Amino acid sequence: MRTVLIATRTFGKYSQEPVDFLERHGFTVIRAGKEDFYTTLKEVDALIVGIPKITRNMLQGSRVKIIAKHGVGVDNIDVKAATEFGIPVTITYGANSSAVAELVIAFIFALSRRLISTHKEVFEKKSWPNITGIELQNKVLGLLGFGAIAREVSKRACCLGMKVIAHDPYVEDEVIRKSSVEPVEFIELFKTADFVSIHIPLNSGTKNLVGERELNSMKESAFLINTSRGGIVDEIVLGHALKEHWIAGAAVDVFEEEPPNSCSSLFECENLITTSHIGAHTVEAVYRMNMMAAQAVVDFFEGREPFLVVNKEALLK
Ligand code: NAD
Repeated sequence: MRTVLIATRTFGKYSQEPVDFLERHGFTVIRAGKEDFYTTLKEVDALIVGIPKITRNMLQGSRVKIIAKHGVGVDNIDVKAATEFGIPVTITYGANSSAVAELVIAFIFALSRRLISTHKEVFEKKSWPNITGIELQNKVLGLLGFGAIAREVSKRACCLGMKVIAHDPYVEDEVIRKSSVEPVEFIELFKTADFVSIHIPLNSGTKNLVGERELNSMKESAFLINTSRGGIVDEIVLGHALKEHWIAGAAVDVFEEEPPNSCSSLFECENLITTSHIGAHTVEAVYRMNMMAAQAVVDFFEGREPFLVVNKEALLK
């Protein structure tokens, strides 16, 4: 009997179907705590993983034949090492795009009408503040990256009457224009947008990509939204930008370190709203991610090439 280690809290949480699916195909589903994760990993045939870091040391000498990422960002997995060891890494591309896009739209509403601070004033401080927000109609939304999530955000923003611009050097301008979105240069995006929303992967080229120059280029009335990965925005600079009002506010779902250090200067910024990396966490998206990850594992062991392998070279080893 083959074994699959589940290292994501939401696998099988809202529906038993993904677990049943694996068991029907002859797998024993194993879960491990933080303490025995490392030793258990060495003994299993497959890994379904969310956010935990998977390092070269963990994979070296392990029995793992396939890693199915429960999500799309593979920055927590040493893909280079996996490739060397002949371990394909799959992703659940598109499964959570709507969920993240809806969180972005929720952030846009929360920032534009100061919903969180108003709620706190009324509910916690028992005051009755006179808060004036802004409308979204004709405001400019700037998307950094124009992949699956950004495209879902752009569809929703267009329905709200927003003008959408995007920067993505890997997507042809024609493709961006077909979505009624205007392609722009990198710094132009920060200068022009009323809301900048980040939708790129974290890698060596995008680490701290959004720093002093970018945040300083933004309008004082503009907002930054990051539902992508913490390391893409320089958090120290973001703290300065918020405290010194270079920008009007920010909404952040992802941090460089998670959970973030509560001593971080970001926690002193009243114009910041945060969530706890919940972008992909809807019942529907979790179900789709569960099933896609399980299907990848089953396909691999039944001799079919799994859908969406990010390191195809590993299949040749
Ligand atoms: P995707 O691969 O469809 O899109 C990423 C886009 O970024 C691609 O079009 C790529 O060309 C572009 N890109 C890469 N480097 C760039 C750069 N330097 N400048 C501009 N564009 C660049 O991925 P996606 O499904 O849209 O997801 C985007 C990111 O969102 C993921 O990498 C992941 O880190 C993050 N994510 C977060 C959550 C969450 O829970 N908050 C959930 C899902 C995904």
